[in-house]
Amino acid sequence: MLKPSKTKFRGCLLGQCLGDALGFPIEGRDENDCSSFIFNKAKHWFDGFEPNRIEWSGQYTDDSQLARELLESMIEKGGFDPKDYAERIEAIFRENRIVGQGLATAKAARNLARGVSWKRSGEPPPSAGNGTAMRAAPVGMFHYDDAEEMIKVAHTQGWITHKDTRCSAGSVAIAGATAMALTGQAEDTDAFIENIAKWMAYYDDEFSKLTLALKDWILLPPHKALAPISRAGKSPDYVDGWPGISPFVISSVLWSLYSFLRYKDSYWDAISTAVSIGGDVDTTGAMTGAVAGAHNGEEALPKHLTKLLNDRGIWGYEELTALADKCHEIKTS
Ligand SMILES: [Mg+2]
Repeated sequence: MLKPSKTKFRGCLLGQCLGDALGFPIEGRDENDCSSFIFNKAKHWFDGFEPNRIEWSGQYTDDSQLARELLESMIEKGGFDPKDYAERIEAIFRENRIVGQGLATAKAARNLARGVSWKRSGEPPPSAGNGTAMRAAPVGMFHYDDAEEMIKVAHTQGWITHKDTRCSAGSVAIAGATAMALTGQAEDTDAFIENIAKWMAYYDDEFSKLTLALKDWILLPPHKALAPISRAGKSPDYVDGWPGISPFVISSVLWSLYSFLRYKDSYWDAISTAVSIGGDVDTTGAMTGAVAGAHNGEEALPKHLTKLLNDRGIWGYEELTALADKCHEIKTS
């Protein structure tokens, strides 16, 4: 296992925020709208043009806000402290700082606000959105060197808001993919998929098996892969009403891993695949961006765009990179 470099830690956190922020203006829209935004606008920005700040403010959303809080909490506490993280989730909702929220997470935050313990605040099954997975990359950063701890923390951080086993497995998938990408273990695609599936099986067998099917799905171009992945884990007659990829944890995590694995060595190709298909695209952008950023490092991200990232004017490039550097320092010194 390689000791991850500082640029990979930065790439992971900035890559998450950038994918999220590029998906934000078109969240919930269909493929036409999303691909038009991505290929007619974002591509030019990516290639060096300055974004029109009315069209793109650099604001990222709840996915990266809650990932950032998780990373900050783990650094401050020297490891995962569920009580501290639950307080941070509660505070960001109570203070109305959350940008675009998930239903289960909002409900859990309300439970926490009225004094319910973090052990009981989460939504019970069958609520299975991607709220745990979208914020799980920092678990892979902090525990890249200890799979057992990584799996446990990925589950526990998720439990605060979602109690469905699929949500735990989705969190393990993104944390595990991040850990492997950071340590140079994404080169061998089959081994990467098998490892993640093995770790996910601690919590959900069905989701783990569907993840193994990625070995075949990544051979398909996006338009062919969309049908099986967007239907994965749903009963044949289930209609969720979303275009593209819905916030269901199974399809959105699988689509994000697909986008990364098919275009591993290009951050842009990976996130544009994740987002252009439509649906819950700030989240597919965030999850794909975290793993692709961890694999390719900060230099794969255009600095004139990462410099514009912000959360209501604060928590921009300087603060995000300082946080990533701190984690790197603690974990590699
Ligand atoms: Mg979001």
